[in-house]
Amino acid sequence: MPQAIFFDLDETLIRHSTPIMEQLQNVCHQHLADLSEVRWNAFHQHLMTNVGQLWREMESFQGRCEAEFISIFRGALKEAGGDAALAETIIEAFLASVVDSTGPTKGAHDVLDHLAEAGIATGIITNGFAFLQKRKVAAHGFADRVRFVLASEEAGAHKPDPRIFQLALQKVGLAAADSWHVGDHRENDVAGALGAGLGAVLFAPEPPSVDAVPNQESLNPAHFRVITCLTEIPDLIAGHYNR
Ligand SMILES: [Mg+2]
Repeated sequence: MPQAIFFDLDETLIRHSTPIMEQLQNVCHQHLADLSEVRWNAFHQHLMTNVGQLWREMESFQGRCEAEFISIFRGALKEAGGDAALAETIIEAFLASVVDSTGPTKGAHDVLDHLAEAGIATGIITNGFAFLQKRKVAAHGFADRVRFVLASEEAGAHKPDPRIFQLALQKVGLAAADSWHVGDHRENDVAGALGAGLGAVLFAPEPPSVDAVPNQESLNPAHFRVITCLTEIPDLIAGHYNR
């Protein structure tokens, strides 16, 4: 039986009902009068290029991403001929929209409560910006149900980088061999956990999530387990799942 089980956040503990880009576009249309397709494209391109760079250089922006994100947004607004002073207002509306469009996955709260009662340490390991990920965690009742929340911004490394898993293990003082990680992404979650020496469980719900990140990682099915509902986890533990 594992002594710790870590969970991915997006499309694992919580699920999105609307793709995130669609929400950003809606929010921008609400705040920017006459946002033509040309202006939206300029805004979107500037944002994607610079957020992409921020994502790749996460290690050097550790803990400073929110300020950098605001600055990128200001640049994108200028690029689209909008008012840069609206950046914070639009970001706030966007974050609120993202939180509103997400909800806890079926069984997520119950499983975390079950694991706590069984004395199994739990934590969340999520690729993302701390200011957004922690807001979703708090809004959907997870903050008090897990031992820690670790966003890749804080770790300075994204899954599948083993360093983020090692940092999580340090937080609970346990070895990789005593720990599992559950997530929906084959490369980031499953291959990442296996690469760091943890047990891995792929969460593959039906229907698939609207915001699932496509990936083609081919993995040996003998090396991990697959669940379609989080409520299967207590049975997996009882079955003494061995890697
Ligand atoms: Mg995910």
